[in-house]
Amino acid sequence: MSRTAHYRLVPVSDRVHLVDGGSVNWVLVSEGDSLTLIDGGYPGHADAVEASIREIGRRPEDVAAVLVTHAHVDHIGSLDRFAARYGTPVHTGTTEADHAHRDFLEQATPRDVASNAWRPRVLPWALHIVRAGALGEHRLDAATPFPAEGALDLPGRPVPVAAPGHTSGHTCYHLPELGVLVSGDALVTGHPLTSFDGPQPLVSMFHHDRARMTRSWESLAPLEADTLLPGHGPVWRGSPREAVEQARANSSRVW
Ligand SMILES: [Zn+2]
Repeated sequence: MSRTAHYRLVPVSDRVHLVDGGSVNWVLVSEGDSLTLIDGGYPGHADAVEASIREIGRRPEDVAAVLVTHAHVDHIGSLDRFAARYGTPVHTGTTEADHAHRDFLEQATPRDVASNAWRPRVLPWALHIVRAGALGEHRLDAATPFPAEGALDLPGRPVPVAAPGHTSGHTCYHLPELGVLVSGDALVTGHPLTSFDGPQPLVSMFHHDRARMTRSWESLAPLEADTLLPGHGPVWRGSPREAVEQARANSSRVW
């Protein structure tokens, strides 16, 4: 597994950075010297997560808490090491905390991937994620439910928004002060397995319940924001309502 995975820091505003880890994103939100880290890439991104924090002039010790959108390996892979090394609290919803502990698992299996291997783009992507450390069991015992309801007392004042479907406990994070919606995998803007960018769902094999996920878009549409930061794909500028409309229109183009 690569321990020197490349990443690209994408400034969103003076306080917000999206980090493009190649096939998955994580987000850094700063306030003074302190940071909120949202998601953490594959196991192979452990060094890249720390390097991205140092590149914006902070230290891993400055992360006040890690927030998790959902407990798939491409979002939590580096975080067990991070939490153990720095003693950082890790929060997500109650159901997703159980998922992170692997009380149950709602993730595409190697068999799901193999049965779609005939499709364009699947094999190169599968090789990439194996190199990033996708295989094997990955859990995040440090994950605990949010300490409070509503806005969290963390940099960016993130407000968790339940968006179940991709996993049963998937959470998006609304940063009203910053005009940002971190949508995780409830709504993305691109993926190595699709041929176009723009608001869209991920391909079906990744979702525990795709229909439930698209119903969750109803909870995202009314949120006030002008920037969408997805778990996969580029930064997208526009309102959540426009993003949801485009994702609905693009749905039939995604298998
Ligand atoms: Zn993902």
